Amino acid sequence: MNVRNCVKCGKIFNYITGPPICPTCKSELEERFQITKRYIRDNPHANIAEISEECDVSIKMIHQWVREERLIFSEDSPIGISCEICDTSIRTGRFCDVCKADIQHNLGGAYDNKEAIENFKRSRGKKEEMRFLNRDRD
Ligand SMILES: [Zn+2]
Ligand SMILES: [Zn+2]
Repeated sequence: MNVRNCVKCGKIFNYITGPPICPTCKSELEERFQITKRYIRDNPHANIAEISEECDVSIKMIHQWVREERLIFSEDSPIGISCEICDTSIRTGRFCDVCKADIQHNLGGAYDNKEAIENFKRSRGKKEEMRFLNRDRD
């Protein structure tokens, strides 16, 4: 049996998989998520601080949900999320569709490999620079 302490309330529980959170805290968090999701849908112009305050969730938590692509903001939302590689504005997650496809293609979908992403970002930057130089020459 795999027993762990819940990272939120410290209670000991039978750990199976996923984040080390006990079932009580997990369902509470899920409820918070639903509240947050509804709030964003009803208030598409709210910023992160407002969402955090109104829904009683930490800004860190909101960021995590965005990264997991569970929360999606509207097109004209004031919350600027940008692709970690090319800075294109996106509505959810960490990368734009183009970079996502590139990571999938070049790195075999290693989205969590920080070093690989950094290298990829650098090589991408170089490519952009080259394209720019080429354009200059025309
Ligand atoms: Zn707990
Ligand atoms: Zn991108």
